[in-house]
Amino acid sequence: MKTVKDYIRTIVDFPHEGIMFRDVTTLFADPRGMRLAIDQLLAPYVGQHIDKVVGLEARGFIIGGAIAHQLSIGFVPIRKKGKLPGAVISEDYKLEYGEAVVEVHDDAIQPGEKILVVDDLLATGGTAEAGTKLVERLGGEIVGCAFIIDLPELGGRKRLEDLGYDIHALCQFD
Ligand code: IMP
Repeated sequence: MKTVKDYIRTIVDFPHEGIMFRDVTTLFADPRGMRLAIDQLLAPYVGQHIDKVVGLEARGFIIGGAIAHQLSIGFVPIRKKGKLPGAVISEDYKLEYGEAVVEVHDDAIQPGEKILVVDDLLATGGTAEAGTKLVERLGGEIVGCAFIIDLPELGGRKRLEDLGYDIHALCQFD
């Protein structure tokens, strides 16, 4: 039987030479792969109280929407700078080359709400850390951070665990 990892395609030299891009579109395009990924992402949280799923742009929207629907809870997007129409709060974070900014609507999370943060892939953890900071600045409490893929050599899991977050990932690539 195929595992989640078996559905993920690797594109060599994208977006730059030397990068092995882990492409989850092949997982999402397969009906069994999509169901398997969402079920496995949810498994550790069944029976826990969660108020909202927060998805990181852009592939975190796909899995976050499916999880929110499955749990009958709300979904909140964290977007790159300048994309959200309402009043926002922002966080800067470092990329391999340069900086990025992510934003969330300032009324999207209420103090004390239990939040699950999701994205497709955890590399250095910079994106996810910026996302968790936004959630906490609005008073949300992080129940966990769930990813389809963990790249352990890039240290994101350790970085987030050192901050006290519970990390769930479905597979790893070197
Ligand atoms: P980090 O901030 O270094 O942990 O990078 C994670 C972010 O970069 C996530 O939002 C991912 O969607 C994206 N990312 C980095 N590498 C890949 C890849 O190989 N495939 C898909 N997304 C990637």
